Amino acid sequence: MILPVGVDEKNFKAAAEKFKKAIGAENVFTEREDVDLYRDAYSPEWDEETEAVPSMAVAPKTVEEVQAIVKIANEHKIPLFPISTGKNLGYGSSAPNRRGDVVVDLKRMNKIIEVDDKRNFCILEPGVTYFELYEYCEKHNLNVMMDIPDPGWGSPVGNALDHGWGYTYGMYRDHFGAHCGMEVVLPNGELMRTGMGALPGAKTFAENKYGYGAYVDGLFAQSNFGIVTKMGFWMMPKPEYYALLSLTAPMREDIVPIVENLNYLEDSFIVGWPLYRSPLNPPYGKPMNPELKSYLTSKGGKPDLEKIQDYALRNKIPYWQIDIPIYGNKEAVYANIEYVKKRFRKIKGAEIKMVQEFALPMSAEQIKQMKHKVSLGIPNMEIFWLSTRGETIEPKDGHVWFSPIIPRDGRELLKCQEVYIDVFHEMGMPSPITPFAHPRSWMYHAFCFMLGFGNSRTDVEHNKKMRKVYRKMVEVAAANGWGDYRAAPTFQDDVMNTYSFNNHILRRFIEQLKDTIDPNGIIAPGRGGIWPKYVRDSREKGGKK
Ligand SMILES: Cc1cc2nc3c(=O)[nH]c(=O)nc-3n(C[C@H](O)[C@H](O)[C@H](O)COP(=O)(O)OP(=O)(O)OC[C@H]3O[C@@H](n4cnc5c(N)ncnc54)[C@H](O)[C@@H]3O)c2cc1C
Repeated sequence: MILPVGVDEKNFKAAAEKFKKAIGAENVFTEREDVDLYRDAYSPEWDEETEAVPSMAVAPKTVEEVQAIVKIANEHKIPLFPISTGKNLGYGSSAPNRRGDVVVDLKRMNKIIEVDDKRNFCILEPGVTYFELYEYCEKHNLNVMMDIPDPGWGSPVGNALDHGWGYTYGMYRDHFGAHCGMEVVLPNGELMRTGMGALPGAKTFAENKYGYGAYVDGLFAQSNFGIVTKMGFWMMPKPEYYALLSLTAPMREDIVPIVENLNYLEDSFIVGWPLYRSPLNPPYGKPMNPELKSYLTSKGGKPDLEKIQDYALRNKIPYWQIDIPIYGNKEAVYANIEYVKKRFRKIKGAEIKMVQEFALPMSAEQIKQMKHKVSLGIPNMEIFWLSTRGETIEPKDGHVWFSPIIPRDGRELLKCQEVYIDVFHEMGMPSPITPFAHPRSWMYHAFCFMLGFGNSRTDVEHNKKMRKVYRKMVEVAAANGWGDYRAAPTFQDDVMNTYSFNNHILRRFIEQLKDTIDPNGIIAPGRGGIWPKYVRDSREKGGKK
């Protein structure tokens, strides 16, 4: 039997009975076959003793039920781990941070409280999925869209609380940044509203973020200060017209002026999310051309940059390709296209083509044809070709993301490629990073230079090796000034350790607050590298007593 850390069987069973009374026996899951559904399907510790399998799961329907759960948990010192829809694959999924902690599954709390397409906001419960919100807006013919992450099955609340990102204009792409107003059940069971929501009867819960006084919303994301039961979000009005351009450039060094120009265009709201990539990469999940692949190790085990560039020029393959969306009315979109073309004329050999253009509303057939559905807030699951369905990636059981933030600068990207390639070379492993690996541009005002480490359901040794390399990458990245923005539970302490300015003052400050607000340490021990006092000394051992 799996038990939470520090909880004996008697107390655990007594708490389970009280949970059943409070929220109905059918919403408390203690049988292994039910609880196992909350395992992290992409766990980098699958089937090891340390794998964070919960002991129990509870699924409340109302705020009052969440409060009752938290109060019972305090009586019996039962650690709770809240999830909204639990689809956080690659960053922990629906499993808790620590083995044995009780999952509070909020997916039954799925009310769309309000969507306003004149003032452009919504207020949601945690269990509402992107698909549900999209369907609601379409059904009611509302002229707003939500900025969404790639897989549409998650929730705006859960995604924002893990600092997730999307694909339209910068201010909407930052999902936590686009939230406005929260309702939270605190670790003692009290209910709090933040921002304008603290004013009884406030009319701008989801419109003005700050209310009055200290801004505390950040304490509830990537952390463990409460269970969020409502959140407001700013939404984007649907544009009248949408065009997708494709910019190509022949030389590796072209990335430097490309980034500078796109930074200007993005920050001026002339273009939306630029999708950087290199056509030297094979199509999704397919193997790389063998000649090109041979140049990745042909210079004493490292890439031969000249041969790679020569291969690209000989085969007339652009070194870079960036897809650029433009929103507006038709006249404005066309004027902006001309302006974008003018800015890139200075790069020798650069070309810009129109890929697609649509007037909104779009027909079902047009939506089907659309290349980047996410850039118009249309949820889908196409991304799931990645890692588990590709033809070449071994093992194929999932991945954990290594996600450091780097400056939005072409030279820094090229340096980053070199540093990553060197780490893999030193460790005697093939490098997943190539001299044509591209930045991810979700972060508004920064790049993320991420890579997915494949994990296995059957090969424990593979996962152990992977964890070693991952940890090395965290250290090397930090030494270069690049810090991860998000991490799977297995690596959250490693990441938090690198944010160490002035003898870890940030962590010490947060943990001091944690001790005050959650003295029993019941909410999500370890999440975001924040441990309650009773297990703080054992953070290296995953918060066991
Ligand atoms: C192929 C692939 C592509 C992906 N692409 C993207 C992408 O484009 N953008 C992106 O951001 N992510 C992406 N992800 C990661 C992930 O799938 C999404 O972020 C997903 O939306 C998160 O799931 P969720 O919304 O159900 O959040 P949840 O799993 O419910 O929540 C995330 C975490 O937040 C905390 N939390 C959740 N709800 C609460 C609450 N109410 N109170 C307190 N704490 C809470 C919990 O600790 C939880 O673990 C991708 C994953 C995969 C596998």
